[in-house]
Amino acid sequence: MAQITLRNLAHSYQPNPGSEADYALKELNHVWEDGGAYALLGASGCGKSTLLNIISGLLRPSHGRILFGDTDVTDAPTAARNIAQVFQFPVVYDTMTVRENLAFPLRNRGMDAGYIKARVDQIAAMIGMEAELSHKARGLTADAKQKISLGRGMVREDVNAILFDEPLTVIDPHMKFELRTQLKSLHREFGHTMIYVTHDQTEALTFADKVVVMHDGRVLQMGTPEELFERPAHTFVGYFIGSPGMNLFDAEISGSRAVIGGVEVALGASYGPMTGRTQIGIRPEFCGLDRDVGLPFRVRRIEDVGRHRIIRGEVMGAPVNITAPEGTEIAADATRILFAPEKINVYADGWRVAPLGEGR
Ligand code: ADP
Ligand code: MG
Repeated sequence: MAQITLRNLAHSYQPNPGSEADYALKELNHVWEDGGAYALLGASGCGKSTLLNIISGLLRPSHGRILFGDTDVTDAPTAARNIAQVFQFPVVYDTMTVRENLAFPLRNRGMDAGYIKARVDQIAAMIGMEAELSHKARGLTADAKQKISLGRGMVREDVNAILFDEPLTVIDPHMKFELRTQLKSLHREFGHTMIYVTHDQTEALTFADKVVVMHDGRVLQMGTPEELFERPAHTFVGYFIGSPGMNLFDAEISGSRAVIGGVEVALGASYGPMTGRTQIGIRPEFCGLDRDVGLPFRVRRIEDVGRHRIIRGEVMGAPVNITAPEGTEIAADATRILFAPEKINVYADGWRVAPLGEGR
């Protein structure tokens, strides 16, 4: 196993890329620590599969280097990288039995028969297919075939990393949770570096210790679920993570005050001078209603979702959400919105600005 380093990596599918827009992956530097459980999260088309295929060697990057430990593998073929990859749709040998499919990567490596049998039995138990081991893969459902693909990705213990590219797309919803739990326990047991690609924030936040958020060919932030919630590095992360996402307001920032449409809002920290478009971000969980103080708020509609209520409304014509515990009464004369000052983040041109003194 090894730490994976991406150095000045960029990729364009065009033969002669000109501007940045021609790059599916803009230049990035990134380190995947050995043994980490990562999720790579972003909307469809943001470059997740491109990045994964570059790591596994299916794709050669237009620029930059890939290192496994201290070894440069940029020009090494897929087989030499010792990586297991599971794709969105099943890749199985139809004429082989389930057992033969699962054993395939081990047979290829010349492992002994006793070990192969024991290991395949163990993996079959994880994916819940012990009863079907002697069945031919042909004729199984897409769902069962994808479980075989997952099992085959996990069967080798000696891989540098396991890459999962939206592997649960064709899996039955109730089985998804089960398999995700199995992947987590596999990670705990064997400590492989795992990178799990998904566009679903719940999947990402439940699987991973660290989530890497991508948008439009760029890595915007890598952080724990808590960091992404408390301190989104970019307004997109604030908006993409959470449901509903972070509220954003254009604001003038000076010291520990923000001014929004002429109304002053206290910040939880002090800020130095900044340039560009300045905004504050506050999550719906840290907003409340008031009668007298705060920005003018107009309630549009109230939704009851499980254990909380979402109050959807607007501030100066822009949509804003508040979440409150279930059963919260909303007074008719509550026409102001208040923010918890210490939960406010400040952004300049989309990027979070650290308050004075942070990190010291
Ligand atoms: P994701 O996996 O996040 O959905 P992809 O990495 O598949 O995103 O795609 C990133 C961008 O690169 C998209 O704009 C997509 O259309 C483009 N792209 C992906 N594969 C190819 C390809 N083989 N040839 C040309 N463009 C591609
Ligand atoms: Mg993809």
